[in-house]
Amino acid sequence: MGPRLAEKLADYGITHIEDLLFHLPLRYQDRTRITPIAAARDGMDVVVQGEVRAADVVFGRRRSLVARIQDSTGTLTLRFFHFSAAQRNNLSVGSELRCFGQVRRGSSGLEMYHPEYRLLRDGDEPVEETLTPIYPTTTGIGQAQWRSLCEQAVKILEREAVTELLPPTQRYPFGLANALRYLHQPPPDAPQDTLRDGEHPAQLRLALEELVAHNLSLQRLRERQQQDGAPALQGQAGLLEDFLGRLAFTPTAAQERVLAEIRADLAKPVPMLRLVQGDVGSGKTLVAAGAALQAIGSGFQVALMAPTELLAEQHWRCFSEWFEPLGIGMEWLSGRTKGKARARALARIAEGEAALAIGTHALFQDDVAFDRLGLVIVDEQHRFGVHQRLALTEKAAPGHGRPHQLVMTATPIPRTLSMVAYADLDCSVIDELPPGRQPVSTTLLDAGRRDAVIGRVGAACREGRQAYWVCTLIEESDALQAQAAEATAAELQQALPDLRIGLIHGRMKGPDKEAVMAAFKAGDLSLLVATTVIEVGVDVPNASLMIIENPERLGLAQLHQLRGRVGRGSTQSHCVLLYQAPLSANGKERLTAMRESTDGFYIAEKDLQLRGPGEVLGTRQTGLMEFRVAELPAHEHMLEDVAEVAGLVRAQHPENIDALIQRWAGSAAQYAKV
Ligand code: ADP
Ligand code: MG
Repeated sequence: MGPRLAEKLADYGITHIEDLLFHLPLRYQDRTRITPIAAARDGMDVVVQGEVRAADVVFGRRRSLVARIQDSTGTLTLRFFHFSAAQRNNLSVGSELRCFGQVRRGSSGLEMYHPEYRLLRDGDEPVEETLTPIYPTTTGIGQAQWRSLCEQAVKILEREAVTELLPPTQRYPFGLANALRYLHQPPPDAPQDTLRDGEHPAQLRLALEELVAHNLSLQRLRERQQQDGAPALQGQAGLLEDFLGRLAFTPTAAQERVLAEIRADLAKPVPMLRLVQGDVGSGKTLVAAGAALQAIGSGFQVALMAPTELLAEQHWRCFSEWFEPLGIGMEWLSGRTKGKARARALARIAEGEAALAIGTHALFQDDVAFDRLGLVIVDEQHRFGVHQRLALTEKAAPGHGRPHQLVMTATPIPRTLSMVAYADLDCSVIDELPPGRQPVSTTLLDAGRRDAVIGRVGAACREGRQAYWVCTLIEESDALQAQAAEATAAELQQALPDLRIGLIHGRMKGPDKEAVMAAFKAGDLSLLVATTVIEVGVDVPNASLMIIENPERLGLAQLHQLRGRVGRGSTQSHCVLLYQAPLSANGKERLTAMRESTDGFYIAEKDLQLRGPGEVLGTRQTGLMEFRVAELPAHEHMLEDVAEVAGLVRAQHPENIDALIQRWAGSAAQYAKV
């Protein structure tokens, strides 16, 4: 092949013949049979063959080339809106044509727009012998070229077998070579429905291998990190007890259990890699504080990283209250920390005066150096990619290996997903809410009732309750979101002139946001108009009412997070989802799930069904869940087998691990590199 094609293929990560074999079709067309014109129906993709009876350029609303073909059963109209002079000359009356395309019912009976077609010299030319694969492609390489390339690769495969890297398993009888051949060239009788659902044994065989490769690469990532060792953090006698003794509440049994798991990990000279899952409001912050104290008590530093400035600020307030009485030095670092303040923060972190550094992703920028970093805590994990998480652990204390890692996620992750996405982490679950919480009751209301809702919010606030009014916009732009929230706040203030109404959005400066949150927390504001910046972590227990406008625009996980801002105190809380009618079927299903359940795990499972794993984990950009063959949750049923086969490879054929990871590099290489 020429260098230009080679270059284009390299863009797809294809540099070897074997890579082509693993460039698998997205779907198939059946061009193995000729359909009599009379048997073609609206919407069908068919091959038809007939004699051209007429061909003319027609000047209607748009100039088009219209031809009519006829077989022994009927006639069909072909329409081309873009055509060349050569095309026009080709379609001469009397010539024999074979076309492939979708049949539609049009003004002149059955029609095909822009069919693929071929002039036949001899009417008996054979049809395709296999289903026609449609390959994933962007630009530069057309379907015909993909087909020819993959066809050649399959021919070479016949001569030089592709290396089997998995041990044979009875449950997946297809060999690798057969599976690949089958998927590039399925026989005419292949079950198209099964292929479409990704459930064909040939697909399952490849999905198994891909998931095994992914699992092995995560395991390897884990081993590499653990190889480096970590400081054994034994803690300081009495420090934790002192802290817990000052709290206004006692930890729940679940918090105690998870904290004990973490403390045992920290005491070992191997980096902890632990994920703490706990529904919103389950009290993850307290567990993080306990872990931090053990590291600080051992003379090491702790970095606590949150995905948004607002959440980091809230942690700052919470930890200041908890840790200042204990005489623990703290430092703040976000993207907005500039100039002298930044220099001072960096110095205090580098010299170890700050035992706890709290901030956003600014904490893992290159110029941030720690004196003795022993523990990294990442809150709300699903917002960070694996790489960001790992960047912090690179900031190790010289001579002490890597810091321990504690990852906390507010979105409970369905077990299946966490088996795949977090195979490199151990998992603890806080499966209990603090006592006295009452589930939030949720109502769906048509936006037509907005005025009535405003009235009810006013009445509730006058009775001393506090409420959030959440404005959502699909636009990613902070500026537009801010504008919308400002307009809503002004409108609500006009409708409810006697209420003290605050506003918070992502465009506000740190101290301004801080001031508004503090005023709301202190009860000086009774209604807080907000964008989805309050989605994560904001904690004002007295707020017991939340209105979410246009909830149909948000994913389930996000709605659950938002709703989790209320129901934190002991009063009954309410959430009103003020939707724009009419709802799509999917939208209706999502909002109904919200009304019916407050269980984060149930909602996460639903979210996975409705949106797919990339969205659920918020990692589409990081490529975490971009598999080529495997699909979740469709292939969920294979995950036990994946763990078993990965174990077999590790035990019996460790020499195959590199090759497996390499082969499926598209989905796994980024882990292997770390
Ligand atoms: P999340 O898991 O969503 O991060 P937080 O750590 O913000 O939850 O805790 C939610 C609220 O519950 C906070 O106001 C916190 O002080 C309170 N809380 C945490 N643990 C307990 C407990 N054991 N008993 C009572 N309240 C608790
Ligand atoms: Mg939290």
